Amino acid sequence: MSPSPVLLGCIADDFTGATDLANMLVRGGMRTVQTIGVPDTPLDTPAQAVIVALKSRTAPRDQAVAESLAALAWLKTLGCRQFYFKYCSTFDSTDQGNIGPVADALMTELQTSFAIACPAFPENGRSVYRGNLFVGDLLLNESGMQNHPLTPMTDANLVRVLQRQTPTKVGLLRYDAVQRGANAVAAARSTLLANGVGIAIADAISDEDLYTLGAACADDVLLTGGSGLALGLPGNFARAGLLPHSEHPEQLPVVNGLSAVLSGSCSRATQAQVEHWRSTGRPAFRIDPLELAAGNAVVDEACAFAEQRIRTEPVLVYATSAPEEVSAVQKKLGTAASGELVERALASVARRLRDSGVQRFVIAGGETSGAVVNALGVDALRIGSQIDPGVPWTVSLGAAPLALALKSGNFGTTDFFSKALTMFDELMELSQ
Ligand code: ADP
Repeated sequence: MSPSPVLLGCIADDFTGATDLANMLVRGGMRTVQTIGVPDTPLDTPAQAVIVALKSRTAPRDQAVAESLAALAWLKTLGCRQFYFKYCSTFDSTDQGNIGPVADALMTELQTSFAIACPAFPENGRSVYRGNLFVGDLLLNESGMQNHPLTPMTDANLVRVLQRQTPTKVGLLRYDAVQRGANAVAAARSTLLANGVGIAIADAISDEDLYTLGAACADDVLLTGGSGLALGLPGNFARAGLLPHSEHPEQLPVVNGLSAVLSGSCSRATQAQVEHWRSTGRPAFRIDPLELAAGNAVVDEACAFAEQRIRTEPVLVYATSAPEEVSAVQKKLGTAASGELVERALASVARRLRDSGVQRFVIAGGETSGAVVNALGVDALRIGSQIDPGVPWTVSLGAAPLALALKSGNFGTTDFFSKALTMFDELMELSQ
């Protein structure tokens, strides 16, 4: 059992989505821990919000349901008062699930007959109006998401989308009510409930709407949504006198040691970040997937390069390449095989650098972060201050803490790598 009561227990359907939610809760004043998968031990650190990060977004439906229920069972042991199912702000799912089936299973287990569903995240351009999800000015099904390789979103009407995934009646909590405040939302909910609605897609086009929804759901045992819907939850706990104002939820334990940057993301933002690092004369070693495939000692070379320099300054090891180069490699080696090859190589580099004294890592790429975190044996993170929107510094829990900034592809400004490392130095100076 955690030494202090955990207020909010969250289940996230992917890793970087979990960190995004964690970042939101810390900014709202909650001490937050993120676990990688469902732990098999109790939580032994104080936290007011705990997020279990699953990889269930595109898993087979039954597996996603089983893992989500296992996460819920573990969170219940922490005494959480309220639960949150976090999915993507573009509602990534298929007609088979997994949002509907997971929400159904959580509602049954928590014995509740009503839950809200709201992926809106206005700060990132995601809004829901009359049940339709917009990405910026575009309907979801015209935003590019219709071409997603795993979860193509070809219908922007979320009431219809969700209804195809669940036998529970799906309804709409209209903007007309949300706009008029928490009392109007409560009245609209009663009408929906009387009409047999179990899950209500909620309209929201601004942060204010999300605060209204949060306040209206203060007593709900389960909320479902993107990270935006969580905006109002810390305030609910504070108003109930459960969240002391004086705490510094973002404060991280001291982590000294050397610093390194590992990049396996080929997203546009990461390409610019790698270029920026190199153009400012910082040391960088490029991993070539074709050399890896040929069995050359690329990892040894990368580590030798890094170890010669790392005591003087941080080193970048990267596989980041332009789209033409990536597709040429993928054609030769296969998409999945080349991805895994690079992930395994960066994971080995991370382990060896850790053994050489690196304790602060900036890692670019969602899948890459997952591979590196696994290789380093990290199973839970305390969440600290935000570096850029959606990316906080974190420190792993356990005997030999590591500082980790895990950046998914398109996040972060061009100077993200050096900015993150400088920021961590400053944070450590403040806490020493
Ligand atoms: P992002 O968050 O930008 O999507 P990910 O780490 O999730 O980044 O995914 C990038 C994928 O591309 C990883 O599987 C990585 O191993 C792979 N990769 C990285 N560099 C190369 C490369 N030069 N050629 C082929 N695949 C690469």
